[in-house]
Amino acid sequence: MSNAEQLWEEQPDMEGLFLGDDEADRETYRAAIEQACDIVLGEFLENATPYSGAAPEELADTLAEFEMLPAEGDGLEAALDRASPVLRNSVGVSDPHCIAHLQCPPMVPALAAEVLLTAANQSMDSWDQSPAATHLEQQFISELCALFGYDETKSDGVFTSGGTQSNFVGLLLARNRILIEEYGVDAQKNGLPPEARDLRILCSEAAHFTAKQAAAQLGLGESAVVTVPTDTEYRLSVEAFDEAIVDIRANGNRPFAIFATAGTTDFGSIDPIEPLADRARKYDCWFHVDAAWGGALALSDAHADKLAGIESADSISVDFHKMFYQPISCGAILVRDESSYDLIDRNAAYLNPERDDDAGVPNLVSKSVQTTRRFDALKPFVTMQAVGREGLASLMEYTIDLAAEAVELIDRDPDLHVIHDSPLNVVLFRYVPESVPADATREAWTGRVNEAIRDSLLEDGEAVIARTTVDGINCLKLTLLNPRTTREDIRSLLQSVVARGTEFETNPDELYS
Ligand SMILES: *Cc1c(COP(=O)(O)O)cnc(C)c1O
Repeated sequence: MSNAEQLWEEQPDMEGLFLGDDEADRETYRAAIEQACDIVLGEFLENATPYSGAAPEELADTLAEFEMLPAEGDGLEAALDRASPVLRNSVGVSDPHCIAHLQCPPMVPALAAEVLLTAANQSMDSWDQSPAATHLEQQFISELCALFGYDETKSDGVFTSGGTQSNFVGLLLARNRILIEEYGVDAQKNGLPPEARDLRILCSEAAHFTAKQAAAQLGLGESAVVTVPTDTEYRLSVEAFDEAIVDIRANGNRPFAIFATAGTTDFGSIDPIEPLADRARKYDCWFHVDAAWGGALALSDAHADKLAGIESADSISVDFHKMFYQPISCGAILVRDESSYDLIDRNAAYLNPERDDDAGVPNLVSKSVQTTRRFDALKPFVTMQAVGREGLASLMEYTIDLAAEAVELIDRDPDLHVIHDSPLNVVLFRYVPESVPADATREAWTGRVNEAIRDSLLEDGEAVIARTTVDGINCLKLTLLNPRTTREDIRSLLQSVVARGTEFETNPDELYS
């Protein structure tokens, strides 16, 4: 046998392990996907409703049975079976009572797209790894830009892993712009000059923590972020902003970015976009709008006006894995002026050679902070083809109406108190204890009872709701993303909240169980 023949003989047994032409390979793929589908429809949907209630130690024990790096495998069927307990003890994100976070129930069209895009495994960094996918992503971005009021011919953008990355890129562009334009320093090439110490970003105190995280990662430090107080509706207060920016300048610092939020994580509040756009122009600041959550309002004829002025933003963060009902991960950053990307331009000889640029071959690596990147654009594409913009909007519109109804129900109940009436689909409220034990303050006691209500709902697997603090006191939060949640679900949940609150009050020892 020649060497080459011998190597051929030694090729490992791969039957059914890769997508291949022969019938056996095809059948294994089909069977694997079907088995996965059965686990989703069985173990996951039937048990994770909305949560199995398993405690951290229980989960660790269940999983301790598995060897993570076994020397030998047991075959695909047994392997997939082992995923069952994981799915069984997952959060049932599609359950109508799973209403804690901005974690959406994923839509079926997008789940089917996910099967396609993982099998195709296109990588969005270079055109030769994702030819049609590259063009589809660009076209999707372009129409999305138009939806936000950008000029389609001048704007641009790219899919991201989500709001965190989109916010980072928005502030990265902002930082590079000010350094090159005002100080003549190419930060991309030469790093930060001493003047970078003076740079300041303004956002509201309700802005997402990733504004500070990005500032830290950009070498400006978290202290470069000046958080401006909010008004009574948890929107950035323009009055307070005007004072803050005067102060910043009086101290010899340079405000260079205004970071507005359309849909703050806790309150769903939307900062006054137009007044902030004016100030961005006046003070020569980059204007970024974090619309990770609220960006979906642009889909809706009824609610798009809540984003009025967003077309003046230099950059916009949008998450599809929130109110566009796409599976994680799926987000985008949009920029009003495509030439902004020159600020982070780089050429890797093997991915986006200058020759390609000249020949008009799009290599999206130049717009992204990722290299290998998923073809996530396929998910909203398939979703839009299946239900249309209006179909998608109607789902979200229903949940916004549902939140308004929840607020009404809470308002009517003397044991409950509404904290904030949001323009989005979040509801913040508290159970109000009747009496307070002698050794506690009303604030502390209220916080404790509300936390206990939330924990017991989770432990019993009745509902997954969130807890947050407002003015230093715990409160309950419903994030009503799920269009499958009904008015009746809300009514019975609120009854349960009151019943649990009353029970804890009569039997406070329960609180410490
Ligand atoms: C969710 C969210 C983020 C973070 O986005 P990820 O997709 O989790 O990275 C940032 N800002 C806002 C307003 C958000 O709602």
